[in-house]
Amino acid sequence: MTENRKYAFDWSLIGNLEEGRPNLGNQTRLEVYRLMQFCFRDVLEQKLGSDEADRVFYQAGYLAGNHFYTNVIGHSADLDEFVRKLQTTLKDLGIGVLRVEEADLAAGKLVLTVSEDLDCSGLPELNYEICTYDEGFIAALLESFSGIRFNVKEIDCWCTGDRTCRFLALAEGSSAAP
Ligand SMILES: [Zn+2]
Repeated sequence: MTENRKYAFDWSLIGNLEEGRPNLGNQTRLEVYRLMQFCFRDVLEQKLGSDEADRVFYQAGYLAGNHFYTNVIGHSADLDEFVRKLQTTLKDLGIGVLRVEEADLAAGKLVLTVSEDLDCSGLPELNYEICTYDEGFIAALLESFSGIRFNVKEIDCWCTGDRTCRFLALAEGSSAAP
C-alpha cells in the first residue's frame, strides 16, 4: 500500500494561493467544504461500512493535525502557549472557537470544546456525534505538542443537541476516567 503512492500528503499540496488565485484569494464558502466532506463520507461508508469510514476520517484528521502542527502551530514552550496559539489560529482560520475546560497533562486528560465548529455547527440533529475528523485532528495536535499519544472522543456535538462540540482526550494507557 505504501509503495508507489500517488497521493501522499505534503504541505506543498496546499499550493501557492497568491499565484494560483490572484482574484479569488484563499477564501471559499463553507457550503463547499461541507459538500466535499459529507460526500466523501457518504462514499467511504458505501464502500467500507460506517465503522471503517469513521476510522478513515479519524486517521485523515490525525494526518491533517500532524501537518497543521508542523506548518502552522509550531513549537510551544508550555501548555498555556500551545493553547493560546491554537485558540488564535483556529479562530483566525474560521475552524472554531476553542475552549479548554480541563487540562491535566500529567493525568493524561483534557476536555476541550469547539463552538461554531467548521464541520457540524448548524447541522440537523442526528443523535450521534459526527466530528470524527476533528477527533483525529485534536489527537495529533495534542500528541505533537506533548509527545503523548491521545485517544480523542467527541462526547457532545451540535448534532446531539448541544450548542458546542466537546472532546474528551485521554492519554493512551491513562487511568483517568471519563
Ligand atoms: Zn461536533
